[in-house]
Amino acid sequence: MAELVELLRRLAETPGVAGFEEEMMLRTRAELEDAVDEVRIDNWGNVIGTKRGSDARAPSVMLAAHIDEPALIVKYIDDAGFIRPERQGFPHMLALSGERVLIHTGKGPVRGVVGLKGLHMFYLESSISASGKMEVPAMRDMYIDVGAESRAQVLEMGIDVGNPISLERGISFLGNPSYVTGKALDNRAPLAVMLEAMNRLSGEVLPSTIYAVGTVMEEIGHRGIIMSAYQLSPSILLAFDITVCGDTPDAHIADFPHRMGHGPTVKLMDVIMGATGLTAHPKIVRWLIDAAEAAGVPYQKEVIMGLNTDASTGHMQRGGIPAGAISIPCRYSHGPSEVVNLDDLENGVRLLVAALRSLPADFSLARV
Ligand SMILES: [Zn+2]
Repeated sequence: MAELVELLRRLAETPGVAGFEEEMMLRTRAELEDAVDEVRIDNWGNVIGTKRGSDARAPSVMLAAHIDEPALIVKYIDDAGFIRPERQGFPHMLALSGERVLIHTGKGPVRGVVGLKGLHMFYLESSISASGKMEVPAMRDMYIDVGAESRAQVLEMGIDVGNPISLERGISFLGNPSYVTGKALDNRAPLAVMLEAMNRLSGEVLPSTIYAVGTVMEEIGHRGIIMSAYQLSPSILLAFDITVCGDTPDAHIADFPHRMGHGPTVKLMDVIMGATGLTAHPKIVRWLIDAAEAAGVPYQKEVIMGLNTDASTGHMQRGGIPAGAISIPCRYSHGPSEVVNLDDLENGVRLLVAALRSLPADFSLARV
């Protein structure tokens, strides 16, 4: 478990703003190198590790975990020296104000703070009018303060339009040390599960060729999975992502019937109305559930509205790729302090290892 925590720390503390994942590409490659036969990074940055199988008849399996995170990008620098951001992906707007951020420039990272209207300003405003209500600021009112006194000073720091901006957050343990908090645990926790499973299988030869892929730009429209699933054209696609839990006071368990610490979820169905989703391939669901039960790994069945993963778009590439997904329960998604449970990560690794070991060379994906 200690190794899994350190792996999670290395991944979560590396910035990977969607579309600007270079540091995460190098980190993911370094973590995969010893576990597979070959790692390459394609020209859009998808990191593709290949573990060659022993039987050409066996289905090839693509594992996909996105390496990007929702964050911000520099849009405009005003004359007073404040930086106006745009969203790059969907960071949680309720939780951005007051956060420390790093602006990634050609000269290295520059620290800033997302402006937050100070509390005393509300005292004054409420004494003179009924306004002064606390509201989530609109994107156009958001600004980042780097301590500059003019636009020229901002430019001198190396900051320019188009620079990616990430949250500055490390990994910490909650009172119960099985619970870990940090930024971008969506998707570093599921990514850690995929990478650790490849590590544990590194000495073994399996019938199937396994591709372990860190995909780019999931948070801005599943772009990396479309490219990489097309390139690899696997027999089976398994995505690794987070899922939502209904076990906090602000949620209904009937809406999100998954709990922290009860194991990873095996996806049955997800969808975002107006976007896309996955109704998992029944043979893949059966394979994963049989593997979990044979290995004694706790798991939860997942049917969810309001979320999708790389598998949702990935399964529609080429002539159609049979797909499923394994998710890690996560609280406070896309906020600066996401929370995951380490036992769920460990059980995710055990589930994936058991599933890959049990996949027979003559596995049939025929539905009828
Ligand atoms: Zn995700």
